[in-house]
Amino acid sequence: MADIKELRCPICNRTYSPLDVTYTCPQCGPVGTLEVLYNYEHLKAQLDRDELRNELQQSMWRYKSLLPIQADSFVPPLRVGMTPFYETSRVAEALQLKRVWLKDDGQNPTGSLKDRASAMVVARAMEQGIKIVSTASTGNAAAALSGVAASVGMEVVIFVPSTAPEAKIAQLLVYGATVLLVEDTYDVAFELCSEMCLKEGWYCRNTGMNPYTVEGKKTVAYEIAEQMNWTVPDVVIVGVGDGNIIAGVYKGFWDLFQLGWIERIPRLIGVQASGSSALAHAWEHNL
Ligand SMILES: *Cc1c(COP(=O)(O)O)cnc(C)c1O
Ligand SMILES: [Zn+2]
Repeated sequence: MADIKELRCPICNRTYSPLDVTYTCPQCGPVGTLEVLYNYEHLKAQLDRDELRNELQQSMWRYKSLLPIQADSFVPPLRVGMTPFYETSRVAEALQLKRVWLKDDGQNPTGSLKDRASAMVVARAMEQGIKIVSTASTGNAAAALSGVAASVGMEVVIFVPSTAPEAKIAQLLVYGATVLLVEDTYDVAFELCSEMCLKEGWYCRNTGMNPYTVEGKKTVAYEIAEQMNWTVPDVVIVGVGDGNIIAGVYKGFWDLFQLGWIERIPRLIGVQASGSSALAHAWEHNL
């Protein structure tokens, strides 16, 4: 294990070895999404941010020594990450801000930032010799898992609520995934997927359940910091669904701060679409 110190439950603060626990906190159950903590002091002594200049890998794997995988483990060759980072002066002007940048994760192989989490999960499944990966999703997470898994010939089972958009389901079928249409809500599809993974030994990518999705997603923050030459923006604005991406963005900057590679953690602002605003609603109503 690449220098992981422990998995920590943010609810009860218990810590676990990654060899003992695969998914959530055994004490707290499904709400106890575990955080992956490294031996930062050790990494700090070993790694030098300036050496990244010589790193040839133009993908998220340029940060392999900060990811939960062995140095010599195989990773999917499909290029995920190291996406363009544009300064968008016309947007800045329109918003009357000094400088605005756009991190274009739409350029990932299946078209979203979720490829980062899926590549991480597929790499871990391969490291452990697991042959089938699975998730429940209505959209981009399933597409990402199906696409990345297809690139290494790994089998995928996706649980989709039957309300999912047809175009998204078509994308999964194109990648060769086994798609199980669940005639019920997303929550039921999620439950079914989790149960089947435990029963069959499939590796489960479900968000909030698998502690390593955040570890894949955090690489977007590493890239932003590196692309800004280790200065960070004042504010990072992130589109939010259930909050896994913004957790990853935070974790990335937090790691870099522990290593002393950046001087502060930017302020993060989450934005939700009005039709999908569970967190904004909970925030507004103090739930
Ligand atoms: C998944 C997704 C989100 C929401 O991510 P969460 O981790 O659920 O907060 C936002 N934008 C895009 C394009 C996504 O694919
Ligand atoms: Zn716990």
